[in-house]
Amino acid sequence: MPTWTTVAPRIHQRRGGPFDLSTVVVEGDDGLLVVDTGAEPAEAEELDADIGRRFDGDVRWVVNTHAHFDHTFGNQVFGPGSATDAAIYGHAGIVRHFERYEGPRLAAWRTDPSREPERRWHDARLTPPTHPVERISRLDLGGVVVELRPQPRAHTDTDLVVFAPAQRVWVVGDLVEESGPPMYGSGSFPLDWPGVLDGLVAELRRGDRVIPGHGRVVDREFVERQAADLRTIAEHFVAAHDAGLGAAAALAEHDDWPFPVEGLVSAVERAYASLDGLPLDEGGIDDA
Ligand SMILES: [Zn+2]
Repeated sequence: MPTWTTVAPRIHQRRGGPFDLSTVVVEGDDGLLVVDTGAEPAEAEELDADIGRRFDGDVRWVVNTHAHFDHTFGNQVFGPGSATDAAIYGHAGIVRHFERYEGPRLAAWRTDPSREPERRWHDARLTPPTHPVERISRLDLGGVVVELRPQPRAHTDTDLVVFAPAQRVWVVGDLVEESGPPMYGSGSFPLDWPGVLDGLVAELRRGDRVIPGHGRVVDREFVERQAADLRTIAEHFVAAHDAGLGAAAALAEHDDWPFPVEGLVSAVERAYASLDGLPLDEGGIDDA
């Protein structure tokens, strides 16, 4: 069963579904804002019903923290053509990311569902933001304001942070993960990610609450540690590359990686491609 936590007045985190996804609901006087919509339409239908039972008012705004399917494949339940017909906000790069990653992933699944048998994507429709966000923007929900802050490339090239200034709550998507290690999945930028997190840390105050894409609410110190761990990994990759080691050898060089080494295979490949000056945006089907 999903669990709900009230993080601050009017701001609630729901954790649940197959990926322990954080969905955040912000209650405005003029309606509800929902951050991230789940990995498949059926999950979003459950989410929608759960929100309807718990809160007054209609969902008027949806925000995606990034393009990955576990955060966006429920968009169709809330977006254009649905009964809710909410405005969907997200990083301006999501359309392109969908074309390169989530679209091919969905097409591959339709051809052969056995590659990801647990997915329920028969009726999934890629539903990108109706309102692409290119710079810091404010949404006034009535009595509560949130800022949408698109980020430089890090976990993906579509990361966006939602910040509630009055409540000092940050919704950061998978820039930070708590219930598992940070995921270097499709379209990640292992060498750039630590610097983006450092920028976030610089803005965090003691007592601020940070809602990760997966896991419990964390604080500034947690984000600082995760930034340091991501930097250690990036520095090991650069050193190994400078030493002329191959990608597999780079991983074998250390037995004290901050996160399980099997999760770093695509990270080292992406880092090496970047260091070799290769384009990092060709399509592929990786984990989320
Ligand atoms: Zn995720």
